[in-house]
Amino acid sequence: QSKRQGSGGFQMYTEDMDAAAKERLELENDLRLALERDEFILFYQPQWDTQRGTLIGAEALLRWKHPKRGMVPPVQFIPVAEASGLINPIGEWVLKEACRQNKQWQESGLPPIRISVNLSIRQFEQPDLVDRVAQVLQSVQLEPAFIELEITESMAMDAERAIITLSSLKRLGVHISMDDFGTGYSSLSVLRRFPIDKLKIDRSFVRDFGDNQSNALIASTIIGMAHSLNLSVIAEGVETLEQVEFLRTLACYQVQGYYYSPPLPAEDFRTKFLKAI
Ligand code: C2E
Ligand code: MG
Ligand code: MG
Ligand code: MG
Repeated sequence: QSKRQGSGGFQMYTEDMDAAAKERLELENDLRLALERDEFILFYQPQWDTQRGTLIGAEALLRWKHPKRGMVPPVQFIPVAEASGLINPIGEWVLKEACRQNKQWQESGLPPIRISVNLSIRQFEQPDLVDRVAQVLQSVQLEPAFIELEITESMAMDAERAIITLSSLKRLGVHISMDDFGTGYSSLSVLRRFPIDKLKIDRSFVRDFGDNQSNALIASTIIGMAHSLNLSVIAEGVETLEQVEFLRTLACYQVQGYYYSPPLPAEDFRTKFLKAI
């Protein structure tokens, strides 16, 4: 059925479009100012080793404290940032801030951890990405091994180019993980050529293990794939003890999710998870 059917319907439709476009433009304009107004913050979510009962590291997740809208979730503003190109300076801020925070924790005598940072495809395709990452690490004086960059399967589309970028990043010494794994199209044959360290099982497959056979099967396939490629594997979105235990039966001992903790402000993360030894 056509949206044009009936003049009233059509008007509603265009008004909705106008509202959506206006909203988007407004968000983009505010986003443009957010960096200089210092409205971004990083939250940190622990990654847990269920076999040893120890902290593995943390994922840095971007938050935007909008002066009028309050906390805007990444699903709302990351797509706008991507479309407008603003994601490049924002992503660089994220990397710098995560490195700075990590270094500060290390300098205050806390046990060193690896912090992972999400890369957007626009960042990944910047020709000078590797130099930029190197420059940030250098300026903060953080050892590269304490940073992990999260890429997604969409960045593997141009496999040859991706392999070159990833190899340079690996040579620099940072770790690489493949985020939201299982939602894209990467084949085993392409994946095995990728110099990455870890697969992150997308949380959609961790959900309802109990009554969804195909989710359990996909998770178990990904875990098997990781093991055979000699990659580590972590499950995202783990919310229950049952999920932790099911993952353990599949020999997946790294988890991240609300069961352990939601993403936390830096200070809360430190007091809860980084008590000095
Ligand atoms: P992601 O990288 O897959 O991050 C995991 C998301 O799952 C986070 O959402 C986290 O809060 C959420 N999560 C963690 N544990 C659970 C759980 O047990 N249950 C459920 N239902 N959710 C859980 P968040 O922080 O809203 O971020 C959403 C997405 O936005 C991220 O997905 C990532 O793709 C993107 N994002 C966040 N920060 C950045 C950033 O600095 N740069 C870029 N390019 N993207 C970012
Ligand atoms: Mg991620
Ligand atoms: Mg992601
Ligand atoms: Mg993910």
